[in-house]
Amino acid sequence: MKPQIWFLTGSQHLYGPETLEQVAAQSQQIQQLLVAGGLSAEIVGKPVLTDSGAIRQVMIDANADPACLGVIAWMHTFSPAKMWITGLDALRKPLLHLHTQLNQALPWASIDMDFMNLNQAAHGDREFGYIQTRIGVARKTVAGHAADPTVVSRIDGWARAAAGAAHLRGLRLARFGDNMRDVAVTEGDKVEAELRFGVSVNTYGVNDLVKVVDGVGDTAIDALVAEYADAYALAPELARDGDRHDSLRYAARIEAGLRAFLTDGGFGAFTTNFEDLGGLRQLPGLAVQRLMADGYGFGGEGDWKTSALLAAVKAMGTATGRGTSFMEDYTYHFGPGEQKILGAHMLEVCPSIAADRPSCEIHPLGIGGREDPVRLVFDAAAGPGVVIGLADLGDRFRFVANTIEVTPPDEPLPKLPVARAVWKPAPSLSTSAESWLTAGGPHHTVLTQAVGVETLRDFATMLHTELLVIDESTTTHDFADRVRWNQAYYRQFPR
Ligand code: MN
Repeated sequence: MKPQIWFLTGSQHLYGPETLEQVAAQSQQIQQLLVAGGLSAEIVGKPVLTDSGAIRQVMIDANADPACLGVIAWMHTFSPAKMWITGLDALRKPLLHLHTQLNQALPWASIDMDFMNLNQAAHGDREFGYIQTRIGVARKTVAGHAADPTVVSRIDGWARAAAGAAHLRGLRLARFGDNMRDVAVTEGDKVEAELRFGVSVNTYGVNDLVKVVDGVGDTAIDALVAEYADAYALAPELARDGDRHDSLRYAARIEAGLRAFLTDGGFGAFTTNFEDLGGLRQLPGLAVQRLMADGYGFGGEGDWKTSALLAAVKAMGTATGRGTSFMEDYTYHFGPGEQKILGAHMLEVCPSIAADRPSCEIHPLGIGGREDPVRLVFDAAAGPGVVIGLADLGDRFRFVANTIEVTPPDEPLPKLPVARAVWKPAPSLSTSAESWLTAGGPHHTVLTQAVGVETLRDFATMLHTELLVIDESTTTHDFADRVRWNQAYYRQFPR
């Protein structure tokens, strides 16, 4: 089912039925321009709204319809805004205020008062802006002509944010074991997370998973092993006649079991913890990587917040052809040349961000104390991206994001046995890192090349959650001020 965005057109009865028919027809033309511009969601036009009862009803219907991701509102003519008060107050889905008009050019030679009366969104939308601000409605405002690709792309980004928020709202997350012992930032308030984001986070004993893993049949393992040989450059020792083929078969057993556990329980995200592997013979590497590539959220060391965020960002980036992964800031290149961050994890980086065909390898892992785990190894594709993390500050959640440029490694990394990404953080490594540390941002993040920072801003707005962005315009002093001011703002407006 293609997700839907409802298109609401505001007007009033004052103009008479003939004008309202013109309004309806012009609204459809605007909707067609948005569709032609390549919106990822389906646009569903609703009848022109001219009174408070109909407005309230359409908002209640939007709340109740699971296919409806959010609503776009446009005041075609003049829609006295008191009629929107109870409807906007009832609305629980994301709202985008589109400030536009049908004509692109002003018809200088022919314009008369009839034209003026029909095409008055310039002040009709200001009336609507006033009431949204008066009520305090969270929304995105986009101004411009519907034929402008930038306008359509910004609306599409918002619709993707709404898809992420909707995915998070119904998300079920399975934790295998608890957090890594003594770690602070991976902790958090699961009750508050379910209230604010919707995600339901629950823990399972890792041996509940082991039972399913141990029960996987040979046919399922054979099929996965064949798939690995097709999809990846398989290390010869892992191949059918290689002396470590059994390790690959066990990795496939983990994947099949984990997938079955998640599917049967309706889970869209999960966490693992290397300190708590129960009867698992390998730390899950390849399995986690492949599940992430299929859209599952994941966090290492019991990090359920990053896992939930990853699932949401993956939903936002659907069908963009670009990837999103669990990530961790690992180590720095302070020069010579441009300063960079090397990000990776013990094993679990998603192959959706790979530059080339990953290689499937087996290496020892000093941590966890189990058999050598199988993993995919690759460099991340170069290009622009964003890293975003989620911290629990005790009285609220905070997102911290940094715009980045993923680059090829300066030199090959022949001895590094894990997938990795190398990036230049904006505006510089020092300002980025100083700001991130000032914000108390986590070391686990989501790295996305599929979703831009404006979409992540829209997402945070929809969730009524603080987002601090570090980008080309950031200075450490201004950033530190913003952190201080936000303390006051978010204490005053807890919801
Ligand atoms: Mn970690």
